[in-house]
Amino acid sequence: MATAPTPQDQPLVDSHGRTIRYLRISVTDRCDLRCRYCMAEKMTFLPRSALLALEEIAIIAERFVARGVTKLRLSGGEPLVRRDVGDLVTRLGRLVGNGLDELTMTTNGTRLAHYAPAMADAGIRRVNVSLDSRDPDRFRFITRHGDVAQVLGGIAAAKDAGLAVKINMVALGGLNEDEIAPMLAWCVDQGHDLSLIETMPLGAIDEDRIDRFVPLHRVFDALTGQFDLKRDLHDSGGPARYWRVAGTATRLGLISPLTANFCDGCNRVRLTTEGKLYSCLGHDDQVDLKTALRDGGIAALDEAIDLALFNKPARHDFRIEAGSAPAVARHMSVTGG
Ligand code: SAM
Ligand code: SF4
Repeated sequence: MATAPTPQDQPLVDSHGRTIRYLRISVTDRCDLRCRYCMAEKMTFLPRSALLALEEIAIIAERFVARGVTKLRLSGGEPLVRRDVGDLVTRLGRLVGNGLDELTMTTNGTRLAHYAPAMADAGIRRVNVSLDSRDPDRFRFITRHGDVAQVLGGIAAAKDAGLAVKINMVALGGLNEDEIAPMLAWCVDQGHDLSLIETMPLGAIDEDRIDRFVPLHRVFDALTGQFDLKRDLHDSGGPARYWRVAGTATRLGLISPLTANFCDGCNRVRLTTEGKLYSCLGHDDQVDLKTALRDGGIAALDEAIDLALFNKPARHDFRIEAGSAPAVARHMSVTGG
């Protein structure tokens, strides 16, 4: 691996000229659900001793903000199962308006009813909640044991607390494809946004993802027959392409990593709960920020960040084919989806 020539305290620009403004943080690889497309039923999680302390996560996040990151997302695993995560939210919330434009979270919603008011108080304005089905039996099947009422209660609590909600829904053939149009209608009714996601080949699960894979252009064609969708040029700096449901507050996002590559505009990197910085979701290149910080403090942390940016791959190379191995061995829950 080459050595990064960039001096420290420079803005975060990778060797392909992309400026990094967005850090996603997996605060835990653990989860209280076992969504079939995400995890195997029996997962081995990291020992607690391997994790970054919340204090270390905060120091690293603060350093990224000092170097130009304007958006932080807490994810996992399920971020709200990590004890004391509220303290981290409060601390990072202080950066909002002080270098940081947005602090946000992706959650499965099971504990959102409890946390939503504190999240809003801390400065979070928007939250993504995963909801692959509103049908109790299907939801239980997809998540292997989840209770959809709990998640719907969490979503309602988030709305009551003043948080804007975006629903994340992974399109799954034979499981929820027929629920996508009703989900969009429900989002319109509730004033939520909806992002549809193609299932990605990350980590081994108990089935072959090809069996459930749905290309989103097929979904989109079906939706245009039922909804008046207007292209929306909103740019979150992320992978989604957006449409507005005409005459409503609801924006529809399509995240199509398999059928529409979006790497040219990539502005993000990802920190795992054990302190590894992955510069691409679909590659194994990483640098160990935990060791850098513990052994060498902020200067070594900066050097490690620069090295990761220098080596950030130009693009992912996801393919989903029958019997093919996942693109990378780690699950989305490790890298922070
Ligand atoms: N537990 C939280 C949740 O479910 O929202 C946060 C972590 S989860 C890994 C983040 C997002 O990644 C969720 O919307 C989930 O549906 C999505 N996801 C997980 N595994 C995926 C995969 N293999 N392909 C596509 N999306 C995936
Ligand atoms: Fe847990 Fe989120 Fe993965 Fe589902 S998608 S198993 S809720 S980490």
